[in-house]
Amino acid sequence: MLAEKLLLNVLIILLPIFIHSVLSDDKRVGNSPFLCGVLQSFALFLSLMFSYKEGGLYWDLRYVPMVLAFLYGGRIAGGMVLITYLATRTFMGGDILLGYASGFLAAIVPFLFLKRFWNLDAKRRVKTAVIIGFWPSLSMLVILITNIIINEAKGEDSNKILMNVAIFGIIQIFAVWVTAILNEAMIEKDLMKKEILRAEKLNTLGELAASIAHEIRNPLTVVKGFLQMMHKQEKGDNYYYLSLVLTELGRAESIINDYLNFAKPQFEKLEDAKLAEIITEVTLLLEAFAAKEGVQVNVKLDWDVYVKTDRNQLKQALVNLIKNAIEATEEGGEVHISQASAGQESYVVISDTGKGMDQDQLARLGTLFYTTKDKGTGLGTSVSIKIIETMGGSISFKSEKGVGTEVTIILPTYKTSFLEGQNNAKLSTIVKQ
Ligand code: ADP
Ligand code: MG
Repeated sequence: MLAEKLLLNVLIILLPIFIHSVLSDDKRVGNSPFLCGVLQSFALFLSLMFSYKEGGLYWDLRYVPMVLAFLYGGRIAGGMVLITYLATRTFMGGDILLGYASGFLAAIVPFLFLKRFWNLDAKRRVKTAVIIGFWPSLSMLVILITNIIINEAKGEDSNKILMNVAIFGIIQIFAVWVTAILNEAMIEKDLMKKEILRAEKLNTLGELAASIAHEIRNPLTVVKGFLQMMHKQEKGDNYYYLSLVLTELGRAESIINDYLNFAKPQFEKLEDAKLAEIITEVTLLLEAFAAKEGVQVNVKLDWDVYVKTDRNQLKQALVNLIKNAIEATEEGGEVHISQASAGQESYVVISDTGKGMDQDQLARLGTLFYTTKDKGTGLGTSVSIKIIETMGGSISFKSEKGVGTEVTIILPTYKTSFLEGQNNAKLSTIVKQ
């Protein structure tokens, strides 16, 4: 029966995938187009051997391995399968010319699609594979049906052939679909394995870097101490140079501290702190900076909310984010900081009317050492994210190029005080210019 033979063909077509998945762990053979070529050639050969003969026609899934070899294995693999097909077809005899023609016809479409195929995402690749896999059979079927109509075959015969065509079509689509999905699953498994290895390497590197940074910090502090002493005593030409050395040393120290803080935020003293108080302290700290940049900072606070945290860490996180907002804003622009609470969560929203970021920049934000500033370190945002996350909070960024950026921080509320209810929603506005 046709269906039985075709299902056997489906198994034959699945065979290369299973063998490949076992061998793919071996780095040398795993990605080799030759392995793919050999396996798919073997599948094509078996498919031809087990084809179903009826009414002078061969029913099998011969083109599927060829299309898959081209799409997933590349030109070399596809070429190998094509040669196998031509050789087997010659050996089988019959209408050889028609066999050759249909072989080339089946090969040309996946060959042409090869480059575009890999620009698609996994889902589209499966769809494309199904369509491309079906097309050589479709063209053969069209020829067949035209033949039936022209020759006006007997009603019974043509009905049977049409029935066969339907079964063939369904099984063929199913076969390509399953194989494409399995192929994609294998590709994803491979990618994941690579990603895990990379993450492990990065982790070790990160730890190494943290311990080096830690070791460097101590001698740096000693050097800084002596330089400060020399700076105080120096009255001559070197005074200017020593000032410069000290500023740069301070910068190096703050980079190392930021990096260490990122690698392992140190929550030394946990206390219940009033969120509004911390925000006020931070804005006071940045007052001079905002004034220098000509940016107005507006603050709206809710004095009821307490969070449990290390004050200095949370301050550091907020300073980094607010400083970024001020730096992004042009002279005369505004930065708004508003804080509110809902249920067990407190919100701090920092929005600016600055230069904003496009999708690409937004995606890179929070990556270590990503900066667009001349004197930037690319550590601020990463450190803030790490601190907020260590506190059990979350942080999200919304930005539009040329319009501004909005940073939303969500922190778990430790408690709210109703004693100080009269201060509730007190609006304090600090205006700087
Ligand atoms: P740095 O400030 O040292 O450059 P950050 O990690 O704080 O490092 O910020 C990384 C980059 O993200 C900045 O260089 C800037 O391009 C971008 N960025 C961060 N915050 C904002 C913001 N509010 N508006 C526009 N760009 C921002
Ligand atoms: Mg910054």
